[in-house]
Amino acid sequence: MSKSTSKTTGLHPDSLLAHAGGGFDQATGAVVPPIQTATTFVRDEDYEPIGPGYIYSRDDNALYKKVEKLIADLEGGEDSRLFASGMAAVAAVARLVKPGGTILAQSGIYWGTTLFLRKYCARNNIALVEVDVSDFKAFHDEFSVTQPNLVWLEVPSNPFLKVADIQRISDLCKSAETLLTVDATAATPLILKPLSLGADLVMHSATKALNGHSDLLGGVVTTGDIDSEAWTFISEERHDAGAVLGSFEAWLLLRGLRTLALRVERMNKNALTLAKHLDAHPKVKAVLYPGLESHAQHQLAKAQMTGGYGSLMSILVNGGKDAALKVTGALDIFQRATSLGGTESLIEHRQTIEGEASGIPGDLLRLSIGIEHVDDLIGDLDQALSTL
Ligand SMILES: *Cc1c(COP(=O)(O)O)cnc(C)c1O
Repeated sequence: MSKSTSKTTGLHPDSLLAHAGGGFDQATGAVVPPIQTATTFVRDEDYEPIGPGYIYSRDDNALYKKVEKLIADLEGGEDSRLFASGMAAVAAVARLVKPGGTILAQSGIYWGTTLFLRKYCARNNIALVEVDVSDFKAFHDEFSVTQPNLVWLEVPSNPFLKVADIQRISDLCKSAETLLTVDATAATPLILKPLSLGADLVMHSATKALNGHSDLLGGVVTTGDIDSEAWTFISEERHDAGAVLGSFEAWLLLRGLRTLALRVERMNKNALTLAKHLDAHPKVKAVLYPGLESHAQHQLAKAQMTGGYGSLMSILVNGGKDAALKVTGALDIFQRATSLGGTESLIEHRQTIEGEASGIPGDLLRLSIGIEHVDDLIGDLDQALSTL
């Protein structure tokens, strides 16, 4: 029998995740990796590193490598790079576009990304075009005119839960040598694999479901082609610009990932049950969730995603902004907080956070569904909606 403890080919994602970072340590037998906190590593008398590859921790780190390999495997990609936050990962990708270039970004996405791209492009003489990519014709027309260097999608989008056709858009991008990046944070690699649909890069805020416990900031970018120019740039950018993850965060992320498959399964199931319940609720005007048949891109979501539709949804309540705020105030189990993908369910009145200029309607509430018992979540929302 082979002594190798890292024989992972052919395993299901659930199994890869359950053993995340594992393969016991030959020296101690430990089933989880240690946290290496050293920032610098000594050399021997001949000035060779004592541990090959161990020089300085901004270069690399044994824990990053474990997490990066795992995420690359989940995505069906060739390699990943961890970043200090999701936004650091977004910024590294955006910097691929040089002054004079053009970025075509999906409109109505994560507000932090939109704001960053607007400021970054304005400061660097890069044209930024924002378009509703769930409307393929609108996207195609805009693409033909602008000939962008980079297309930025978010699937599903936050907070409107729109679903772009990654395969069709990637065909278009390939014909024009445009780089396609998909932020798939709200989906997780377990239910959406943008690289297999033709994207060049996939990005996640690891702060969200990948870690899943609302206790670290992190980001990750994965490539389908380690020999590409884009990947050389991103690897160098992580090293040279230095937006690296801390050792403790890398370790926590690995620990969080061990339960990703279980968490995603429960969260997706809870979300679909809740979406159906709220869709039939008299106080709810609309539910935005790709798992509902009433969703404009439901068929596309069904074809693109496997095993669920994610744990993010938005609802529009009857009675406008005041009613929406009243509902949030009456909730007991849902926590009033930003972010998503954690074990605990969260609710957010996005317009209060982002302002009216963001275009987010006052009656919209964004829900991140956790792993609680679904009857408790339904009960909490029902009693809060009954105050209207
Ligand atoms: C949270 C989030 C980000 C930013 O990630 P941080 O880890 O907060 O920097 C980017 N995209 C999406 C879709 C997000 O939800």
